[in-house]
Amino acid sequence: MKLSNFFIKTRNDASSVNTCYSHSLMLRAGMINQSASGIYSWLPVGLKVMKKIEKIVRNCHDQGNCIEMLIPTLQPGSVWEKSNRIGSYGKELLKIQDRHEATLVYGPTAEECVTDLFHKYSMSYKDMPCILYNIQWKFRDEIRPKHGVIRGREFLMSDAYSFDETEDMAIRSYERMFGIFVNIFTKIGLPYIAVKADSGEIGGDHSHEFHLFVPDGDNKVFMKKKYQYLMEKCSEFSLKDVNEGGFVSDEKCSGEAMNSEEYISSNSIEVGHNFYFGDKYTSSMDFYVQNKEGKRIHAMMGSYGVGVSRLVAAIIDASHDDKGPLWPVSVAPFNVVILSISNSSKSVNYCNEIYGKIVDMGLDVGYDDRDISLGQKINDAYLIGYSYTAIFGEREIDSNQVKIITRIAGQKSSEEVVEIEGFMNICRGLR
Ligand code: ATP
Ligand code: MG
Repeated sequence: MKLSNFFIKTRNDASSVNTCYSHSLMLRAGMINQSASGIYSWLPVGLKVMKKIEKIVRNCHDQGNCIEMLIPTLQPGSVWEKSNRIGSYGKELLKIQDRHEATLVYGPTAEECVTDLFHKYSMSYKDMPCILYNIQWKFRDEIRPKHGVIRGREFLMSDAYSFDETEDMAIRSYERMFGIFVNIFTKIGLPYIAVKADSGEIGGDHSHEFHLFVPDGDNKVFMKKKYQYLMEKCSEFSLKDVNEGGFVSDEKCSGEAMNSEEYISSNSIEVGHNFYFGDKYTSSMDFYVQNKEGKRIHAMMGSYGVGVSRLVAAIIDASHDDKGPLWPVSVAPFNVVILSISNSSKSVNYCNEIYGKIVDMGLDVGYDDRDISLGQKINDAYLIGYSYTAIFGEREIDSNQVKIITRIAGQKSSEEVVEIEGFMNICRGLR
């Protein structure tokens, strides 16, 4: 993409936003714009990152045989009355009256709608196990939206719902979803941890949260010192490791455990949550299916949420330096951006040629041909966080060299001069 045709709107005047690093960065980098408290427009650069995260989340669900569908943002109040959550959910639930005075709810989650829908179409054990998911905007009228899109009122969530005939089968679906979440966060490519979370009145070992490590994140994860190696491993957890490792999130951790020298802790941000809740909704909503023996039973359910829009900000908070974000290549807004030092036709033609070659490799590449100074372009490269910025000038081209700025999670930011062929090999490696 030629950046003169794109919409890059970096700003210097957003530093007065005194919240967390990601919030101020996302405003300065022109990724989001606040529409109302806790409600944001996603500008093209921010949307590009969010779409890449969404794609990873979708692919991992699809590979795990979950089935995508789409629940509307506005849900009928009647299903929320059926589950009795219309009152108990609290003020976070935004209710709207339509012209016929019917109540609509802007969905903060979709257990009711999905349960209702599943039972309209699925009458027996033959329809299970079944895991439906949707990636849809949610609304929670948070009393204090904060840190930009980390705690918004409107946010994009991927939420999956499993339906099974028996508790044992439901636990197997739960385990399958745990594996899918491990794939998602491993693919995103930043250190993360799965922790046991509060499973409320249901009890048992079947509520887990996924967290990114963020030094000043609002959450805290704890674990037994003995299992520190799991915290360092940071990928491909098994459910067994997590349960044995004694991971706990803050709600679950008793004062005793928190103060005990046995434990180590780390600040973090919650980015995913899996929850098994059995027949909580199928029984309160009075839904039955037929089991193998022909008996009417309530299906057993779990729900599994990933904070897609929150992840954009959480990744920035987890991986940046004082110049800007260090994105994992998997979600960077551009993998490669080409810059020309001067407007000389030799340099510009060369950049066009290289740009064309990298486009042909199928990479997400930009050519910053905007009519602004080289300094401003480099400034934007740091602020937005292209994985590789390649700067071509006549002298470098003559000696077959290019200067590259590398900004990638887990690697030290660097500026170096390399052979052009070496740079092209780096690009091939990104495919
Ligand atoms: P939190 O404890 O952070 O308020 P939650 O536990 O209430 O979140 P869940 O119901 O578990 O949220 O939602 C699943 C996922 O959706 C969370 O793990 C988080 O990533 C994301 N999420 C929840 N609330 C918000 C919000 N207000 N803004 C952005 N993302 C959110
Ligand atoms: Mg949660």
